Amino acid sequence: LPGPALVAFDDADVAALLPDPGPESDKYSRGVLAVRAGSAPYRGAAVLTVGGALRTGVGMVRHAGAEAVVDEVLARWPEAVAEVRDPLSSTRLDPGRVAAVVIGPGRGTRPGNADELRAVLESDVPVLVDADAITVLGGGPLADLARGRTAPTLLTPHAGELARLLGVDREAVEARRLEHATRAARELDCTVLLKGSTTLVAHPGAPVAADTAGTPLLAAAGTGDVLSGIAGALLATGLPAAEAAVCGAHLHGRAAVLARAGAPISASDLLDGIPRAILELR
Ligand code: AMP
Ligand code: MG
Repeated sequence: LPGPALVAFDDADVAALLPDPGPESDKYSRGVLAVRAGSAPYRGAAVLTVGGALRTGVGMVRHAGAEAVVDEVLARWPEAVAEVRDPLSSTRLDPGRVAAVVIGPGRGTRPGNADELRAVLESDVPVLVDADAITVLGGGPLADLARGRTAPTLLTPHAGELARLLGVDREAVEARRLEHATRAARELDCTVLLKGSTTLVAHPGAPVAADTAGTPLLAAAGTGDVLSGIAGALLATGLPAAEAAVCGAHLHGRAAVLARAGAPISASDLLDGIPRAILELR
């Protein structure tokens, strides 16, 4: 058959990949995740992304952003290490101090966000690019930078974001999801997690993985931000990008079902399901 092969994955596949902290672990060896999410108009995105990472289990989550966002993050998650840093005035990333970076949810698309994304892509740590950062990535010079990275890059678009990235209509992506996810992975030389009722994970040179653990209950604002936190945490603990994407999507889907025993959930509720999903898989 022409075209890429499609493989399904299940609880056992994910359980085998999920990192388990060894007895000698400390907070650095378990992974430090930097989060660049949220902006003054979209503070909740930072709270959800940081929460997704913390609930998944990681040594430390470091959030940097505008003061109003930092206040919100710390009010909900005192265990987060949050510092006030406006992307427009400072884009510095301390690569020696972080194991992975999540950038994009609610972050905005102002010119300063391109500088911030450039600084993150120029680092040699694994990077998860979501939401506004995918829009900022566009098809321009930052896409070239993404293509030339030595560390893994994981993109987590929904159909609309992938369409913008590839310069095609959303309808075209929705009609041929496998083809477009594969094309983006090949053209940007990165791992692509395409969100939707079935999640596809495309990785250059590998068969595309499909996950159906989710539920339509996930079709709600903010759930994608939680997924970024989950998959980012898995990257920070050392999983390769394709594995972090596959495990992240599966955990996210299981968490949605478990959070309220199948009853409707909001994105905040989804956070409660993550530890339960991990316990069930172990
Ligand atoms: P976002 O589009 O960034 O808000 O992310 C939405 C999240 O919900 C992604 O993880 C999607 O895969 C998931 N999702 C959206 N709609 C559905 C659906 N109908 N069935 C299962 N998962 C869904
Ligand atoms: Mg989103």
